Amino acid sequence: MAALLPFTVTHKDPATSARAASLTTPHGVVETPAFMPVGTCGTVKGVAGWELDRLGPQMVLSNTYHLVLRPGVERMVQLGGIHRLMGWEGPILTDSGGYQVFSLAARRALTEDGVVFQSHIDGSMHSFSPESVVDAQADFGVDVAMVLDECLPFPVEPSAVDPSVDRTLRWARRALSRAEERREAGGWAGGLFGIQQGSVDPDIRRRCSDQLAAMAFDGYAIGGLAVGEPSEVLHEAVDFCAPMLPRERPRYLMGVGYPEDLLHAVACGVDLFDCVLPTRSARTGKAFTSRGEVVIKNARWADDDTPLDPDCGCPTCSRYSKGALRHFFISKEATSVVLLTIHNLYFFLSLMRGAREAIMAGRYGEYRDRIQSNRNMGLGD
Ligand SMILES: [Zn+2]
Repeated sequence: MAALLPFTVTHKDPATSARAASLTTPHGVVETPAFMPVGTCGTVKGVAGWELDRLGPQMVLSNTYHLVLRPGVERMVQLGGIHRLMGWEGPILTDSGGYQVFSLAARRALTEDGVVFQSHIDGSMHSFSPESVVDAQADFGVDVAMVLDECLPFPVEPSAVDPSVDRTLRWARRALSRAEERREAGGWAGGLFGIQQGSVDPDIRRRCSDQLAAMAFDGYAIGGLAVGEPSEVLHEAVDFCAPMLPRERPRYLMGVGYPEDLLHAVACGVDLFDCVLPTRSARTGKAFTSRGEVVIKNARWADDDTPLDPDCGCPTCSRYSKGALRHFFISKEATSVVLLTIHNLYFFLSLMRGAREAIMAGRYGEYRDRIQSNRNMGLGD
C-alpha cells in the first residue's frame, strides 16, 4: 500500500482543541488551519493565477462534478491536468461532486453501484461510481481527492440516515481500493480523504467515524453540515463531530462558512475549510471586514473615501475607497467583483493565518474572542 501524505501536528493550543499542523502534498506543504478558496469550474471566479499567487492560499478547491461535465475528463487530460488549467502550481483539492449530485434531487437516481444523473448544463445523462470519481480526480492530477458520498439534506427523516451512512461507508471502501490501485500504478501521488456523514445524530456520526478510521485515508472530512441548519445546530454538531475523527490525520469541515463558524471549528480541532462565501458574496456586493459585513451598494458609502477595512492589508484596501467600490458596483463594472473578491479572500486567508499564529503562541482563545468582539462592534451594515 502506498504511503499516506505526511501530516504533522506541530502545535496544540493549551486551552482549546485548536492545533497547527502541516500536510505535505505533491505540490507543496499545506500549513493549517487553512481556508481553501473555491474555484468550482477550474478558476477562482474573478481571480487570475498570478493574483492567487499573491494572496497565497495554502490550497485551492475545485469540483469534480463540474469539471467532469465540462470540459470533461479527456479534455482535462489533453489540457495538461488541473494545475495547468487553473494556472496554479500549489496544492489543489477537489470535492467529489457528491454534494452537487445529491442537490439535483429529482434529476438523479441512486443505486448500489453509484448515481445516475442529468447534467444541469445540457440535460445529458451521466453516472458516477465511487471508482469513476477517484479515476477522474487522479486523471486531473489533484493533490487531494475526496470520496463519493451521499450527502443528506437538513432536516432529514431519521430512518433514512442509517442506510445512507452504510452506503457511504461501502462506497468509501471501494474508493479507497481504487485510489490504492491508481497510486500503485504510478502517475498519481495524491491523497484520498474519507467523509463522515450521519446528519446531526451523534451516534451515527460516531459509527461512521470509527469505520472510516479503520480505513487508511489521508484525511477525514465532516460532510453533510452547512446544508441549511441554524448556526447553533452547526456549532453543536462540529463540537461532537470533530473529536471523533482520527487526531493523527487532517480534519476538513466541508462548505463552512462564516468567520465565526471557522473560528469555532478551529477551536474544536478542525484543520481545513472551504466555502463559497468570500467569492459569492463579492458578486453580490458584500465585503467581510474586521468590523462586520459591509454592503457596498448602500448609499451611506457614496462619499466615503476610506478603505473597506482600516485593518486590512489587501491590494484593494491599499488603493480603493468604499466610495469608489460602491460606484463601480452600482455601475456594474466587472472590476468591482474582482476587487471585492480579492479583499474577501484576503480577509478569510488572514483570519486563518492569524489563527495559526495564535495557536503557535498558545493564545488561540484570546485571538478568537478578540476577532469576534471586533466584528460584533460593527462598522458595517
Ligand atoms: Zn482589504
